[in-house]
Amino acid sequence: MARGLERLLAVGICGLCTTTLWAHPGHGETDPTSPLHAAEPIHLLPVAALAVVACAVFLLVRKLVVKRSSARQR
Ligand SMILES: [Zn+2]
Repeated sequence: MARGLERLLAVGICGLCTTTLWAHPGHGETDPTSPLHAAEPIHLLPVAALAVVACAVFLLVRKLVVKRSSARQR
C-alpha cells in the first residue's frame, strides 16, 4: 500500500515538473518567457486536474485507513 502511494506521488511530482518545464512559443497572449505565462489556461488545467486527482486519492486512502483501523478494533 505504502509502495503504491510512493509511486503515485512520484508520478504526480513528475507531472507537475513537466508542465512547468514546457517552454514554447505559439499560444496564449502572454510572453512565453514571462512568469505570467504559467497562468495561461493551457498550463493551469493540467495542474488543476492533477490537484483534483491528488485530493481524490488522498480522500480514498484516508477512507481506507479509517475503515481498516475501525475493523481492527472490533
Ligand atoms: Zn505555454
